[in-house]
Amino acid sequence: MSQWPSIKDLASDVNSGRVSASEQVEKALKTIEEKKEFNAIIATLADRARQRAKTIDDRIKAGENVGRLAGVPFIAKDNFLTFGAETTAASNILKGFEAPYQATAIERLEAEGAICVAKANLDAFAHGSSTENSDFFTTLNPHDKSKVPGGSSGGSTASVVLDMAPFALGTDTGGSIRLPASFCGAVGYKPTYGLVSRSGVVAMASSTDVIGPLTRTVADSALVLDIMAGTDELDSTSIVKDKLGYELSPTEAHLKGQKIGMISEYMSEGLEPEVKDSINMAIEALKQAGAEIVDVSLPSLPLALAVYYVICPAEVSSNLSRYDGQRYGFSQQDTTNLDDIYKQTRSIGFGNEAKRRIMIGTYVLSSGFYDAYYKKAQIVRTKLVKEFEDAFKKVDFLIGPTAPTTAFGVGENTADPLKMYLTDIMTVAVNLVGVPAISVPCPVSDNMPIGLQLIAAQHQDRKLLEIAQLAESILK
Ligand code: GLN
Repeated sequence: MSQWPSIKDLASDVNSGRVSASEQVEKALKTIEEKKEFNAIIATLADRARQRAKTIDDRIKAGENVGRLAGVPFIAKDNFLTFGAETTAASNILKGFEAPYQATAIERLEAEGAICVAKANLDAFAHGSSTENSDFFTTLNPHDKSKVPGGSSGGSTASVVLDMAPFALGTDTGGSIRLPASFCGAVGYKPTYGLVSRSGVVAMASSTDVIGPLTRTVADSALVLDIMAGTDELDSTSIVKDKLGYELSPTEAHLKGQKIGMISEYMSEGLEPEVKDSINMAIEALKQAGAEIVDVSLPSLPLALAVYYVICPAEVSSNLSRYDGQRYGFSQQDTTNLDDIYKQTRSIGFGNEAKRRIMIGTYVLSSGFYDAYYKKAQIVRTKLVKEFEDAFKKVDFLIGPTAPTTAFGVGENTADPLKMYLTDIMTVAVNLVGVPAISVPCPVSDNMPIGLQLIAAQHQDRKLLEIAQLAESILK
Protein backbone atom coordinates (compact mmCIF):
# COMPACT_ATOMS: atom_id res chain seq x y z
CA MET A 1 0.00 0.00 0.00
CA SER A 2 1.31 3.41 -0.94
CA GLN A 3 1.42 6.28 1.53
CA TRP A 4 0.19 8.56 -1.28
CA PRO A 5 -3.39 8.82 -2.52
CA SER A 6 -3.96 9.45 -6.24
CA ILE A 7 -2.34 12.66 -7.46
CA LYS A 8 -5.74 14.16 -8.13
CA ASP A 9 -6.99 13.42 -4.60
CA LEU A 10 -3.78 14.66 -3.02
CA ALA A 11 -3.96 18.00 -4.85
CA SER A 12 -7.59 18.35 -3.90
CA ASP A 13 -6.81 17.61 -0.24
CA VAL A 14 -4.08 20.26 -0.28
CA ASN A 15 -6.25 22.84 -2.05
CA SER A 16 -9.07 22.32 0.45
CA GLY A 17 -6.70 22.70 3.40
CA ARG A 18 -7.33 19.16 4.71
CA VAL A 19 -3.59 18.49 4.52
CA SER A 20 -0.72 20.92 3.96
CA ALA A 21 1.88 21.07 1.20
CA SER A 22 4.56 21.26 3.90
CA GLU A 23 3.45 17.92 5.34
CA GLN A 24 3.72 16.33 1.90
CA VAL A 25 7.23 17.65 1.37
CA GLU A 26 8.33 16.40 4.81
CA LYS A 27 6.79 13.00 4.10
CA ALA A 28 8.69 12.76 0.81
CA LEU A 29 12.00 13.90 2.32
CA LYS A 30 11.63 11.49 5.23
CA THR A 31 11.02 8.53 2.91
CA ILE A 32 13.98 9.54 0.74
CA GLU A 33 16.17 9.52 3.86
CA GLU A 34 14.78 6.22 5.15
CA LYS A 35 15.36 4.46 1.84
CA LYS A 36 18.77 5.91 1.08
CA GLU A 37 20.37 2.50 0.65
CA PHE A 38 18.64 2.01 -2.71
CA ASN A 39 20.72 4.85 -4.22
CA ALA A 40 17.75 6.24 -6.14
CA ILE A 41 18.53 9.88 -5.38
CA ILE A 42 21.51 12.05 -6.29
CA ALA A 43 20.44 15.18 -4.38
CA THR A 44 17.43 16.58 -2.61
CA LEU A 45 16.10 20.07 -3.21
CA ALA A 46 15.03 20.27 0.43
CA ASP A 47 15.43 24.01 1.07
CA ARG A 48 13.72 25.11 -2.10
CA ALA A 49 10.96 22.49 -1.69
CA ARG A 50 10.22 23.62 1.88
CA GLN A 51 10.07 27.26 0.81
CA ARG A 52 7.74 26.46 -2.06
CA ALA A 53 5.51 24.39 0.20
CA LYS A 54 5.25 27.29 2.65
CA THR A 55 4.31 29.71 -0.11
CA ILE A 56 1.68 27.27 -1.37
CA ASP A 57 0.25 26.79 2.13
CA ASP A 58 0.07 30.58 2.59
CA ARG A 59 -1.73 31.00 -0.72
CA ILE A 60 -4.23 28.31 0.24
CA LYS A 61 -4.83 29.97 3.61
CA ALA A 62 -5.54 33.16 1.68
CA GLY A 63 -8.29 31.31 -0.19
CA GLU A 64 -6.51 30.60 -3.48
CA ASN A 65 -6.76 27.44 -5.54
CA VAL A 66 -3.14 26.59 -6.26
CA GLY A 67 -3.70 24.26 -9.20
CA ARG A 68 -4.15 20.67 -10.26
CA LEU A 69 -0.94 19.55 -8.55
CA ALA A 70 -1.18 21.65 -5.39
CA GLY A 71 1.45 20.48 -2.94
CA VAL A 72 2.23 17.26 -4.85
CA PRO A 73 5.91 16.33 -4.41
CA PHE A 74 7.75 14.83 -7.37
CA ILE A 75 11.24 13.71 -8.31
CA ALA A 76 13.03 14.63 -11.55
CA LYS A 77 15.68 12.58 -13.29
CA ASP A 78 18.92 14.52 -12.93
CA ASN A 79 19.03 15.38 -16.62
CA PHE A 80 16.24 17.95 -16.08
CA LEU A 81 17.46 21.48 -15.41
CA THR A 82 16.07 22.54 -12.04
CA PHE A 83 16.84 25.20 -9.48
CA GLY A 84 17.91 24.21 -5.98
CA ALA A 85 20.71 21.71 -6.74
CA GLU A 86 23.28 20.93 -9.40
CA THR A 87 22.11 19.27 -12.62
CA THR A 88 24.66 16.55 -13.38
CA ALA A 89 22.97 13.99 -15.67
CA ALA A 90 24.93 11.59 -13.36
CA SER A 91 28.12 12.53 -15.22
CA ASN A 92 31.35 13.79 -13.67
CA ILE A 93 31.70 16.30 -16.49
CA LEU A 94 28.63 18.20 -15.26
CA LYS A 95 29.70 18.25 -11.61
CA GLY A 96 29.31 21.80 -10.34
CA PHE A 97 26.84 22.83 -13.04
CA GLU A 98 23.94 24.92 -11.75
CA ALA A 99 21.07 25.46 -14.14
CA PRO A 100 20.47 29.08 -15.17
CA TYR A 101 16.83 28.25 -16.02
CA GLN A 102 14.43 25.37 -15.44
CA ALA A 103 13.12 22.81 -17.93
CA THR A 104 9.75 23.75 -19.41
CA ALA A 105 8.28 20.50 -18.03
CA ILE A 106 9.34 21.47 -14.50
CA GLU A 107 8.00 25.01 -14.94
CA ARG A 108 4.63 23.70 -16.11
CA LEU A 109 4.31 21.27 -13.21
CA GLU A 110 5.32 23.95 -10.73
CA ALA A 111 2.81 26.39 -12.23
CA GLU A 112 0.11 23.90 -11.13
CA GLY A 113 1.50 23.70 -7.61
CA ALA A 114 3.79 20.64 -7.83
CA ILE A 115 7.00 20.63 -5.78
CA CYS A 116 10.23 19.06 -7.04
CA VAL A 117 11.86 17.50 -3.98
CA ALA A 118 14.82 15.60 -5.41
CA LYS A 119 16.94 14.66 -8.43
CA ALA A 120 17.10 10.99 -9.35
CA ASN A 121 20.02 8.83 -10.44
CA LEU A 122 20.40 7.69 -14.07
CA ASP A 123 22.92 6.17 -16.41
CA ALA A 124 25.21 9.10 -17.17
CA PHE A 125 23.61 11.22 -19.93
CA ALA A 126 20.85 8.55 -20.03
CA HIS A 127 23.12 6.10 -21.86
CA GLY A 128 22.15 2.73 -20.51
CA SER A 129 19.60 0.20 -19.38
CA SER A 130 20.48 -0.43 -15.74
CA THR A 131 21.79 2.80 -14.06
CA GLU A 132 25.14 1.03 -13.76
CA ASN A 133 26.55 3.64 -16.16
CA SER A 134 25.95 6.40 -13.60
CA ASP A 135 29.30 8.00 -12.77
CA PHE A 136 28.20 8.11 -9.11
CA PHE A 137 26.51 4.87 -8.01
CA THR A 138 24.12 2.12 -9.12
CA THR A 139 20.48 2.28 -8.09
CA LEU A 140 19.12 -0.97 -6.68
CA ASN A 141 15.85 -2.61 -7.62
CA PRO A 142 13.20 -1.92 -4.93
CA HIS A 143 12.06 -5.57 -5.10
CA ASP A 144 15.50 -7.17 -4.85
CA LYS A 145 18.66 -5.26 -4.04
CA SER A 146 20.83 -7.71 -5.96
CA LYS A 147 19.05 -6.69 -9.20
CA VAL A 148 19.19 -3.56 -11.33
CA PRO A 149 16.14 -1.29 -11.58
CA GLY A 150 16.54 -0.94 -15.35
CA GLY A 151 17.57 2.28 -16.96
CA SER A 152 18.28 4.83 -17.74
CA SER A 153 15.47 6.33 -15.60
CA GLY A 154 16.19 3.76 -12.89
CA GLY A 155 16.44 6.28 -10.06
CA SER A 156 13.16 7.98 -11.01
CA THR A 157 11.33 4.67 -11.27
CA ALA A 158 12.75 3.20 -8.08
CA SER A 159 11.86 6.41 -6.23
CA VAL A 160 8.19 6.03 -7.17
CA VAL A 161 8.09 2.33 -6.33
CA LEU A 162 9.84 3.08 -3.02
CA ASP A 163 7.04 5.59 -2.36
CA MET A 164 9.32 8.60 -2.09
CA ALA A 165 6.90 10.71 -4.15
CA PRO A 166 3.64 10.23 -6.05
CA PHE A 167 5.39 10.63 -9.39
CA ALA A 168 8.74 11.11 -11.06
CA LEU A 169 9.93 12.34 -14.43
CA GLY A 170 12.07 10.34 -16.80
CA THR A 171 13.34 10.57 -20.35
CA ASP A 172 12.97 7.87 -22.99
CA THR A 173 15.34 7.87 -25.97
CA GLY A 174 15.25 4.14 -26.62
CA GLY A 175 13.19 2.78 -23.75
CA SER A 176 14.49 4.48 -20.63
CA ILE A 177 11.05 5.09 -19.13
CA ARG A 178 9.38 1.82 -20.15
CA LEU A 179 12.24 -0.53 -19.30
CA PRO A 180 12.66 0.51 -15.65
CA ALA A 181 8.86 0.61 -15.33
CA SER A 182 8.86 -3.02 -16.43
CA PHE A 183 11.74 -4.03 -14.13
CA CYS A 184 10.37 -2.22 -11.05
CA GLY A 185 6.60 -2.65 -11.47
CA ALA A 186 5.59 0.94 -12.26
CA VAL A 187 3.59 2.62 -15.01
CA GLY A 188 5.95 4.29 -17.50
CA TYR A 189 4.64 6.52 -20.27
CA LYS A 190 6.53 7.49 -23.44
CA PRO A 191 4.51 10.12 -25.32
CA THR A 192 4.38 10.83 -29.05
CA TYR A 193 7.64 12.49 -30.14
CA GLY A 194 7.35 16.22 -29.57
CA LEU A 195 4.33 16.14 -27.26
CA VAL A 196 6.32 17.36 -24.25
CA SER A 197 8.84 20.18 -24.66
CA ARG A 198 12.45 19.15 -24.13
CA SER A 199 13.65 22.63 -23.39
CA GLY A 200 15.93 22.40 -20.38
CA VAL A 201 16.56 18.66 -20.60
CA VAL A 202 20.10 17.43 -21.28
CA ALA A 203 19.98 16.16 -24.87
CA MET A 204 20.90 12.57 -25.70
CA ALA A 205 19.64 11.69 -29.20
CA SER A 206 17.51 14.59 -30.36
CA SER A 207 15.46 12.74 -32.96
CA THR A 208 14.17 10.21 -30.41
CA ASP A 209 14.37 11.89 -26.96
CA VAL A 210 11.05 12.32 -25.15
CA ILE A 211 10.00 13.17 -21.61
CA GLY A 212 7.39 11.27 -19.66
CA PRO A 213 6.04 10.37 -16.22
CA LEU A 214 6.65 7.35 -13.99
CA THR A 215 3.72 6.69 -11.72
CA ARG A 216 1.84 4.04 -9.78
CA THR A 217 -1.31 4.31 -11.95
CA VAL A 218 -2.27 5.18 -15.52
CA ALA A 219 -4.60 7.93 -14.28
CA ASP A 220 -1.67 9.63 -12.51
CA SER A 221 0.42 9.45 -15.70
CA ALA A 222 -2.41 10.93 -17.76
CA LEU A 223 -2.79 13.88 -15.38
CA VAL A 224 0.93 14.65 -15.31
CA LEU A 225 1.16 14.32 -19.09
CA ASP A 226 -1.80 16.64 -19.57
CA ILE A 227 -0.01 19.35 -17.63
CA MET A 228 3.34 18.97 -19.41
CA ALA A 229 2.06 18.48 -22.97
CA GLY A 230 1.76 21.04 -25.73
CA THR A 231 3.71 23.47 -27.83
CA ASP A 232 6.55 25.49 -26.36
CA GLU A 233 8.36 28.28 -28.19
CA LEU A 234 11.59 27.11 -26.57
CA ASP A 235 11.40 23.72 -28.37
CA SER A 236 10.71 23.92 -32.10
CA THR A 237 9.95 20.19 -32.25
CA SER A 238 7.08 20.50 -29.77
CA ILE A 239 3.55 19.79 -31.03
CA VAL A 240 0.01 20.75 -30.04
CA LYS A 241 -1.81 18.65 -27.49
CA ASP A 242 -5.06 16.79 -28.05
CA LYS A 243 -8.13 19.04 -27.84
CA LEU A 244 -9.61 16.76 -25.18
CA GLY A 245 -6.40 16.71 -23.16
CA TYR A 246 -5.15 13.54 -21.50
CA GLU A 247 -6.65 13.62 -18.05
CA LEU A 248 -8.84 10.54 -17.72
CA SER A 249 -12.23 10.65 -16.10
CA PRO A 250 -13.62 7.30 -14.98
CA THR A 251 -13.32 6.02 -18.49
CA GLU A 252 -16.20 5.24 -20.81
CA ALA A 253 -13.82 3.56 -23.22
CA HIS A 254 -14.29 -0.15 -23.55
CA LEU A 255 -12.42 -3.02 -25.06
CA LYS A 256 -15.23 -4.38 -27.20
CA GLY A 257 -14.38 -3.88 -30.83
CA GLN A 258 -10.83 -2.72 -30.16
CA LYS A 259 -8.41 -4.47 -32.43
CA ILE A 260 -5.08 -5.17 -30.81
CA GLY A 261 -2.13 -6.51 -32.79
CA MET A 262 0.18 -8.89 -30.98
CA ILE A 263 3.67 -8.23 -32.36
CA SER A 264 4.88 -11.61 -33.65
CA GLU A 265 8.55 -10.59 -33.72
CA TYR A 266 8.47 -9.75 -30.00
CA MET A 267 6.62 -12.90 -29.00
CA SER A 268 9.00 -15.31 -30.71
CA GLU A 269 12.65 -15.68 -29.89
CA GLY A 270 14.61 -14.70 -26.83
CA LEU A 271 11.67 -14.27 -24.46
CA GLU A 272 12.20 -15.63 -20.97
CA PRO A 273 9.49 -18.30 -20.46
CA GLU A 274 8.18 -16.51 -17.39
CA VAL A 275 7.76 -13.27 -19.36
CA LYS A 276 6.08 -15.10 -22.23
CA ASP A 277 3.57 -16.78 -19.88
CA SER A 278 2.74 -13.58 -18.10
CA ILE A 279 2.22 -11.63 -21.35
CA ASN A 280 0.10 -14.43 -22.79
CA MET A 281 -2.05 -14.43 -19.67
CA ALA A 282 -2.50 -10.66 -19.92
CA ILE A 283 -3.47 -10.90 -23.58
CA GLU A 284 -5.95 -13.66 -22.79
CA ALA A 285 -7.51 -11.46 -20.11
CA LEU A 286 -7.90 -8.59 -22.60
CA LYS A 287 -9.53 -11.00 -25.04
CA GLN A 288 -11.97 -12.18 -22.37
CA ALA A 289 -12.84 -8.52 -21.77
CA GLY A 290 -13.85 -8.10 -25.40
CA ALA A 291 -10.73 -7.04 -27.29
CA GLU A 292 -10.05 -8.62 -30.64
CA ILE A 293 -6.47 -9.90 -30.70
CA VAL A 294 -4.73 -10.55 -34.01
CA ASP A 295 -1.14 -11.35 -34.95
CA VAL A 296 0.79 -8.52 -36.59
CA SER A 297 4.20 -8.79 -38.16
CA LEU A 298 6.54 -5.83 -38.66
CA PRO A 299 9.23 -7.47 -40.78
CA SER A 300 11.95 -4.84 -40.24
CA LEU A 301 11.60 -4.97 -36.47
CA PRO A 302 14.59 -7.31 -35.96
CA LEU A 303 16.76 -4.55 -37.48
CA ALA A 304 15.56 -1.83 -35.13
CA LEU A 305 18.22 -2.39 -32.48
CA ALA A 306 21.07 -2.16 -34.99
CA VAL A 307 19.51 0.95 -36.53
CA TYR A 308 19.12 2.54 -33.12
CA TYR A 309 22.71 1.83 -32.12
CA VAL A 310 23.93 3.64 -35.25
CA ILE A 311 21.60 6.66 -35.16
CA CYS A 312 21.64 7.15 -31.39
CA PRO A 313 25.46 7.31 -31.01
CA ALA A 314 25.65 9.58 -34.09
CA GLU A 315 23.37 12.08 -32.38
CA VAL A 316 25.02 11.52 -29.00
CA SER A 317 28.45 12.33 -30.42
CA SER A 318 27.10 15.58 -31.75
CA ASN A 319 25.17 16.52 -28.59
CA LEU A 320 28.11 15.76 -26.29
CA SER A 321 30.47 17.99 -28.25
CA ARG A 322 29.30 20.99 -26.22
CA TYR A 323 31.01 19.66 -23.07
CA ASP A 324 34.43 21.12 -23.65
CA GLY A 325 35.35 22.52 -20.26
CA GLN A 326 34.45 26.06 -21.32
CA ARG A 327 30.76 26.34 -20.66
CA TYR A 328 29.40 23.78 -18.23
CA GLY A 329 30.54 22.12 -15.03
CA PHE A 330 33.92 20.45 -14.80
CA SER A 331 37.02 21.85 -16.51
CA GLN A 332 40.59 20.56 -16.32
CA GLN A 333 42.65 23.75 -16.29
CA ASP A 334 46.23 22.68 -15.58
CA THR A 335 47.40 23.79 -19.02
CA THR A 336 46.99 26.96 -21.07
CA ASN A 337 46.68 25.13 -24.36
CA LEU A 338 42.99 25.15 -25.36
CA ASP A 339 43.15 21.85 -27.25
CA ASP A 340 44.66 20.20 -24.20
CA ILE A 341 41.95 21.63 -21.98
CA TYR A 342 39.34 20.08 -24.27
CA LYS A 343 41.12 16.75 -24.34
CA GLN A 344 41.81 16.51 -20.65
CA THR A 345 38.37 17.72 -19.59
CA ARG A 346 36.66 15.19 -21.84
CA SER A 347 39.06 12.34 -21.00
CA ILE A 348 38.55 12.78 -17.27
CA GLY A 349 34.94 13.99 -17.29
CA PHE A 350 33.25 11.42 -19.52
CA GLY A 351 32.70 7.84 -18.40
CA ASN A 352 33.36 4.77 -20.57
CA GLU A 353 29.89 4.55 -22.08
CA ALA A 354 29.84 8.20 -23.19
CA LYS A 355 33.27 7.70 -24.77
CA ARG A 356 32.13 4.50 -26.48
CA ARG A 357 29.14 6.31 -28.00
CA ILE A 358 31.21 9.33 -29.07
CA MET A 359 33.59 6.99 -30.88
CA ILE A 360 30.86 4.93 -32.56
CA GLY A 361 28.95 8.10 -33.44
CA THR A 362 31.85 9.94 -35.02
CA TYR A 363 32.80 6.76 -36.87
CA VAL A 364 29.38 6.24 -38.48
CA LEU A 365 29.19 9.92 -39.40
CA SER A 366 32.69 10.10 -40.85
CA SER A 367 32.93 10.64 -44.62
CA GLY A 368 34.26 7.14 -45.32
CA PHE A 369 31.48 5.32 -43.44
CA TYR A 370 28.48 7.65 -43.57
CA ASP A 371 26.90 5.86 -46.54
CA ALA A 372 27.62 2.40 -45.18
CA TYR A 373 26.16 2.97 -41.71
CA TYR A 374 24.36 6.21 -40.99
CA LYS A 375 22.56 6.53 -44.32
CA LYS A 376 21.57 2.86 -44.37
CA ALA A 377 20.26 3.10 -40.83
CA GLN A 378 18.09 6.08 -41.83
CA ILE A 379 16.73 4.12 -44.80
CA VAL A 380 15.69 1.23 -42.55
CA ARG A 381 14.24 3.72 -40.08
CA THR A 382 11.97 5.08 -42.82
CA LYS A 383 10.95 1.52 -43.62
CA LEU A 384 10.05 0.95 -39.99
CA VAL A 385 7.94 4.11 -39.97
CA LYS A 386 6.05 2.80 -42.98
CA GLU A 387 5.53 -0.64 -41.43
CA PHE A 388 4.11 0.88 -38.24
CA GLU A 389 1.82 3.14 -40.30
CA ASP A 390 0.57 0.13 -42.24
CA ALA A 391 0.02 -1.83 -39.04
CA PHE A 392 -2.06 0.99 -37.58
CA LYS A 393 -4.29 0.89 -40.65
CA LYS A 394 -5.24 -2.62 -39.56
CA VAL A 395 -5.25 -2.43 -35.76
CA ASP A 396 -5.93 0.21 -33.10
CA PHE A 397 -3.04 -0.79 -30.85
CA LEU A 398 0.01 -3.00 -30.80
CA ILE A 399 0.88 -5.14 -27.81
CA GLY A 400 3.84 -7.13 -26.55
CA PRO A 401 6.31 -7.34 -23.70
CA THR A 402 8.36 -4.30 -22.69
CA ALA A 403 11.50 -6.37 -22.19
CA PRO A 404 12.50 -9.97 -22.94
CA THR A 405 13.51 -10.67 -19.33
CA THR A 406 12.83 -9.58 -15.80
CA ALA A 407 15.44 -7.42 -14.02
CA PHE A 408 18.93 -8.87 -14.27
CA GLY A 409 21.57 -8.96 -11.56
CA VAL A 410 23.80 -6.00 -10.71
CA GLY A 411 27.06 -6.55 -12.62
CA GLU A 412 25.62 -9.33 -14.77
CA ASN A 413 25.84 -7.49 -18.11
CA THR A 414 28.41 -4.77 -17.46
CA ALA A 415 31.32 -6.58 -19.08
CA ASP A 416 29.43 -7.09 -22.33
CA PRO A 417 28.00 -3.90 -23.90
CA LEU A 418 26.31 -5.84 -26.70
CA LYS A 419 24.42 -7.97 -24.21
CA MET A 420 23.41 -4.82 -22.38
CA TYR A 421 22.19 -3.22 -25.63
CA LEU A 422 19.99 -6.30 -26.25
CA THR A 423 17.89 -5.32 -23.23
CA ASP A 424 16.42 -2.56 -25.42
CA ILE A 425 15.31 -4.87 -28.19
CA MET A 426 11.59 -4.32 -27.56
CA THR A 427 11.62 -0.61 -26.84
CA VAL A 428 13.84 1.17 -29.38
CA ALA A 429 11.62 0.80 -32.47
CA VAL A 430 8.93 2.94 -30.85
CA ASN A 431 11.43 5.80 -30.46
CA LEU A 432 12.74 5.49 -34.02
CA VAL A 433 9.17 5.76 -35.26
CA GLY A 434 8.02 8.46 -32.81
CA VAL A 435 4.83 6.72 -31.65
CA PRO A 436 3.54 6.68 -28.05
CA ALA A 437 3.89 3.60 -25.83
CA ILE A 438 3.27 2.63 -22.24
CA SER A 439 4.47 -0.10 -19.94
CA VAL A 440 1.96 -1.32 -17.35
CA PRO A 441 2.63 -4.00 -14.75
CA CYS A 442 1.55 -7.52 -15.68
CA PRO A 443 0.37 -10.02 -13.09
CA VAL A 444 3.23 -12.04 -11.60
CA SER A 445 3.13 -14.57 -8.80
CA ASP A 446 5.73 -13.51 -6.29
CA ASN A 447 8.62 -13.00 -8.63
CA MET A 448 10.13 -9.90 -10.19
CA PRO A 449 7.81 -7.48 -12.04
CA ILE A 450 7.04 -7.81 -15.77
CA GLY A 451 5.79 -5.02 -18.03
CA LEU A 452 3.14 -5.21 -20.73
CA GLN A 453 3.81 -2.74 -23.55
CA LEU A 454 0.95 -1.08 -25.41
CA ILE A 455 1.72 1.06 -28.46
CA ALA A 456 -0.51 3.41 -30.49
CA ALA A 457 -0.18 5.48 -33.66
CA GLN A 458 1.31 8.99 -33.48
CA HIS A 459 -0.88 11.52 -31.65
CA GLN A 460 -3.13 8.79 -30.23
CA ASP A 461 -1.86 9.37 -26.71
CA ARG A 462 -5.31 9.87 -25.27
CA LYS A 463 -6.65 6.65 -26.75
CA LEU A 464 -3.56 4.81 -25.57
CA LEU A 465 -3.94 6.05 -22.01
CA GLU A 466 -7.60 5.05 -22.01
CA ILE A 467 -6.90 1.50 -23.13
CA ALA A 468 -3.95 1.26 -20.75
CA GLN A 469 -6.26 2.23 -17.90
CA LEU A 470 -8.64 -0.52 -18.92
CA ALA A 471 -5.79 -3.00 -19.16
CA GLU A 472 -4.57 -1.91 -15.74
CA SER A 473 -7.95 -2.55 -14.15
CA ILE A 474 -8.30 -5.94 -15.83
CA LEU A 475 -4.79 -7.06 -14.92
CA LYS A 476 -4.96 -6.02 -11.24
N1 GLN B 1 19.03 1.83 -23.14
C1 GLN B 1 19.02 2.67 -24.31
C2 GLN B 1 20.39 3.24 -24.55
O1 GLN B 1 21.26 2.97 -23.76
C3 GLN B 1 17.99 3.74 -24.16
C4 GLN B 1 18.42 4.87 -23.31
C5 GLN B 1 17.36 5.90 -23.14
O2 GLN B 1 16.21 5.71 -23.51
N2 GLN B 1 17.77 7.02 -22.60
O3 GLN B 1 20.59 3.93 -25.50
